Amino acid sequence: MSSYPVGSVTVTAIKELERWRFPSNHLYPDLTEEAFQLACDTWGEEVTDRDSHELMLDITCYLVEAPGRTILVDAGNGNDKCRPVMTAHHMFETDFLDRLAAAGVKPDAVDLVVSTHLHQDHCGWNTQLVDGAWQVTFPNAEHLFSARELAHVASYGRGAAEGTLEHDFFRTYEDTVEPVLLAGLGRTFEDRALLYDDGVTTVAAEVVGGHTPGHLVVTIESAAGRAVISGDVIHHPLQLADLDLPQVGDVDPARAAAVRTELVRGCRERNTLLFTAHFPRPCRLAGDGSGGTTLTWA
Ligand SMILES: [Zn+2]
Repeated sequence: MSSYPVGSVTVTAIKELERWRFPSNHLYPDLTEEAFQLACDTWGEEVTDRDSHELMLDITCYLVEAPGRTILVDAGNGNDKCRPVMTAHHMFETDFLDRLAAAGVKPDAVDLVVSTHLHQDHCGWNTQLVDGAWQVTFPNAEHLFSARELAHVASYGRGAAEGTLEHDFFRTYEDTVEPVLLAGLGRTFEDRALLYDDGVTTVAAEVVGGHTPGHLVVTIESAAGRAVISGDVIHHPLQLADLDLPQVGDVDPARAAAVRTELVRGCRERNTLLFTAHFPRPCRLAGDGSGGTTLTWA
């Protein structure tokens, strides 16, 4: 695991899963063969598989730590979640909590959990199965939700028939989000929430939408540096070659493209450490001198 100081806070990447495989045209239905081959040439075997025509994603969660403050941004897919239609998310058995403990953090030490959005692979560890019941994993943490996102997942798929994609989406609300609300540990915000401020460094969540109605990003700002934890604004580095390329899960592709473009512009112009949910490592972005973007792994 790797840690990155940003001003007075430290960001630690905690992997839940490495090399999660998807057929390239499942993730990106509009991806051309030429663009896929270019991605293989550019990004290599860590994130592309030319032979099987697959793309690989990691699932990474981020600890943001400061004296007296332990924030978990995104909570992975979680174990034992039954998703018979969304099979990529079905019945994980990972050692995520051991990996968190190896970073020095037990679940009861987390005091704030923020999900960039409420797709299964970003809030799963909000709950864990204990003696056949879903229990809150981080019992001392406030769980911060974008109000728009929470309203969306509380209704989307409700009443849908078993065996449909919509029903699988609603399962995430039922077994992962609702138990947090019933425990009285949920809090919502509208557009922007300050998560930490010690006069040197600020950490804030900002709703940007696009990939999902209430998708948020977490921005860390200090005189010493800037970082963004961007969730699913961008999924795979191949999107740097075409920021308008929709990812299959983008609910509002035009807005998602605009948010992605703005994220990349901000990272390029302000020497930002970029922590995405699904790239293999953090990175920095820069202009290539001809309108394109180059990436350097951090
Ligand atoms: Zn995701």
